[in-house]
Amino acid sequence: MVKDLNLTETEMRDLGYRVVDTLVTHFNELPQKKPVALGTRKEMDFLFLEEAPQGATQVNDVLDFVVKNVFTNTNLVTHPKSYAFVPGPSNYVSVMADTLATGFNTFSGGWNASPAASELEIVTINWLLKMFGLPPKKGGGLFTSGGSVANLTALVTARNKMCGEDFSKARIYLSDQAHSSNVKAIRIMGLKKEQIRIIPTDSEYRFSVNKLKNAIARDRLEGYVPFCVIASAGTTNTGTVDPLQEIAIICKEEKIWFHIDAAYGGAAILSQQGKKLLKGIQKADSITVDPHKWFYQPYEMGCLLVRDHSWLKNTFIEKPEYLRDIEGNESEINFYDMGMQLTRRFRALKLFMSIKTFGLDAFAKAITYNIELAEIVERLLRESSRWEVISSASLAIINFRYNPISLELSEKEIDELNQHIASKVTESREAILATTILNGQVVLRMCLINPRTTIDDVKETLLQCESFASLKLENVFSV
Ligand SMILES: *Cc1c(COP(=O)(O)O)cnc(C)c1O
Repeated sequence: MVKDLNLTETEMRDLGYRVVDTLVTHFNELPQKKPVALGTRKEMDFLFLEEAPQGATQVNDVLDFVVKNVFTNTNLVTHPKSYAFVPGPSNYVSVMADTLATGFNTFSGGWNASPAASELEIVTINWLLKMFGLPPKKGGGLFTSGGSVANLTALVTARNKMCGEDFSKARIYLSDQAHSSNVKAIRIMGLKKEQIRIIPTDSEYRFSVNKLKNAIARDRLEGYVPFCVIASAGTTNTGTVDPLQEIAIICKEEKIWFHIDAAYGGAAILSQQGKKLLKGIQKADSITVDPHKWFYQPYEMGCLLVRDHSWLKNTFIEKPEYLRDIEGNESEINFYDMGMQLTRRFRALKLFMSIKTFGLDAFAKAITYNIELAEIVERLLRESSRWEVISSASLAIINFRYNPISLELSEKEIDELNQHIASKVTESREAILATTILNGQVVLRMCLINPRTTIDDVKETLLQCESFASLKLENVFSV
């Protein structure tokens, strides 16, 4: 054995314990930390740029260097004041599960390589199928790196099933609020821009069903082949759920594949409110969910669920001669036949271990807490004459802007003021807060899916926003 790539047993234990200590300290000290990293390329080059070293360094020194310089220069998306984009609350059990999966370097591609890993993927996919009301026996799915790859896998499957080899006349429909990864996926699939139909949303950012119907009818008249509609169950901007039941009816009548991108909102199905909002999701042909968002899993973990597992296999199976010894029988699923990846990490383990440890009730409680927190924040904002709610709390997302009624600011001034607030908060590093654009207005957006976030955290951030706004307004009015 070559010694050079190995540590002694003592060194291995020591390194492992130090890594665990670092992580536990990180989680415990989160509230005292500032979540924003502001490094420029120049500063990062200064810290890290070097030639690959020819010689060795003590692993403890390498770890010290990394803890000191790397994780102090990355955003802390698990932080209670991480509100922007979609935070990644994560959970410690899954962190350890990922460590185990990596430690054993389990190959989660084929049944023969690791029957238990394949079985756990089958089991956890079944849990999810049941949650979303897809047929447990016939249905199937797989874990992916994230929602983007789950969407791509879904749309390739839809195209294969609905169009076969010739998709030159194919048309696909999605709303202007659908996640950008869908258009990215469609482009990767080789569809042209004009084959993508972006349908405007209504005043509540929901897929406009009439406009969808009209677009499909017009395309049919012109000889095109409508093959897929993508609805969102929780848009990333506003947490809005498209009218799933109505779209399901259209898809059924028109014999069109119904894909639901529930990467953001899917987990809400575990809560009472979410269950109501997501009504109709069980009618989908395919559903994307993203366990590394609201199922509190660490990166990377996306998931695609389909109504009929044979659709995936029919789309992706290739039988190269070097895999002939491990084909197995029908019931022993090779997940490399179900999607793009051959070598796959063992993602199912973290979902399995965390759900076993905490139980679904704990997940449901946390998700309900998140949804209600956003509703409390909405009430707070509505009670104030300085804040304006732009989109109501929906699936733990709320959009609002600073706009004191008494000042009668112009739209341009309000936009600038809110952009200024977000920049100043970022500069202070106290909270990860960003703007988005709704109806042409610059708004502040909070995505409150972290169970560590308290109402006091949000109040503190709002107060901070108000003080930055006041300072700015004083300056403007004194000039
Ligand atoms: C986050 C998100 C995606 C993309 O998922 P990744 O895991 O970031 O690849 C797709 N759709 C929606 C609605 C999302 O919120």
